[in-house]
Amino acid sequence: MTTAPTFSSVDASRLMGTYPSQPVRFVKGRGTELFDDQGKRYLDFLSGLAVTSIGHSHPAVARAIATQAERLTHVSNLFATEPGEKLSVMIDDLIGGGGQVFFCNSGAEANEAALKLARKWGGPGRYVVITADRSFHGRTLATLHATGQPEKHAAFEPLPTGFRHVAWDDIGAFEEAISEEVAGVLIEPVQGEGGVRVPSDGYLHLVQELCREHGILFMVDEVQTGFGRTGDWFGFMHHDVKPDVVTMAKALGNGMPIGAMWAREGVASTFAPGDHATTFGGQPLAAAAAISVLEVMTAINAPQKATDSGALLHQGLMKIPAVVSIRGLGLLLAAELAEPKAKDAARAALEAGLVVNAVTDSALRLAPPLNVTRSEVEEAIEILRQVLG
Ligand SMILES: *Cc1c(COP(=O)(O)O)cnc(C)c1O
Repeated sequence: MTTAPTFSSVDASRLMGTYPSQPVRFVKGRGTELFDDQGKRYLDFLSGLAVTSIGHSHPAVARAIATQAERLTHVSNLFATEPGEKLSVMIDDLIGGGGQVFFCNSGAEANEAALKLARKWGGPGRYVVITADRSFHGRTLATLHATGQPEKHAAFEPLPTGFRHVAWDDIGAFEEAISEEVAGVLIEPVQGEGGVRVPSDGYLHLVQELCREHGILFMVDEVQTGFGRTGDWFGFMHHDVKPDVVTMAKALGNGMPIGAMWAREGVASTFAPGDHATTFGGQPLAAAAAISVLEVMTAINAPQKATDSGALLHQGLMKIPAVVSIRGLGLLLAAELAEPKAKDAARAALEAGLVVNAVTDSALRLAPPLNVTRSEVEEAIEILRQVLG
């Protein structure tokens, strides 16, 4: 006779060591606040890496998830469901209309879909996608190679071919990289993981012009910048451009895993049944969560909140002597420190009750929920002033 196994309650030793040792175990979140297993309170100015953009445990999203979980969670893409259809219309409307949406479960998957779409659209011999140095597009084999950070590549070679990396924000370098084999460009409107780097005015527009001239797909990676974060619905909207393809994920589900790739009419139709698929993509539970996220974001005018609170945060950070400069847009900001001690600063901030991260050796990334309050912004600035002082 076998006995039922018993499961020890808390033990991290059998989690694979893909992440550095984690000092805090969070058990609860509400809005901008997080609480650990000791009952200590924190302000979350990272939002799970720009994911929980309307705050933790948003009641409307929690209700949408619970209601849908009791109605229908999953049926596969062999059948239509209403939440996925409704969400595709909402996303298409936010982007400006005239396109179609493919759903998946993460940012890397959204970019994989875009890379496959570009290859099929390009046809035989046209498969190269141009990406930027210091870009970040995901951790699957293809999106890892798309990612312009060679130090992340070495251990995993050979990587899928078909990528050409060019200097960021350098239109001459981009033009030089164009050849017959190029099918598309994949570019972040603000480089997130690469250090929160905003391109100069006009750069994206010039990229689009060269794409049009050479018949190249202009694909924008909005996985981190999408859904209000930069002060507009999408980062590309700060520039006078109309991408052919937009990929998104992080904030779409406010923590429920969901990603999407939008493509304009004429490009979207490149994919025929059987060309691309994923079991979970667009399933009712994730789609219902995302619908409620977009409803809340629209109701509170999330992009405007990002603009207003971003300005407040920016002003406060400027007054901290150890901060030498600030980069970013809306509520996706990096504070460049006088010394390359961002990791130590992030750890000290955590101890003082503020969650931020070291996006480079010398810069802290701040990405609080878009509905962060004025007093929470002031509290975070005060903590940083003490920690950096
Ligand atoms: C986070 C991120 C990704 C990868 O998303 P995952 O959900 O982690 O696969 C891709 N592109 C950008 C710009 C990102 O910030």
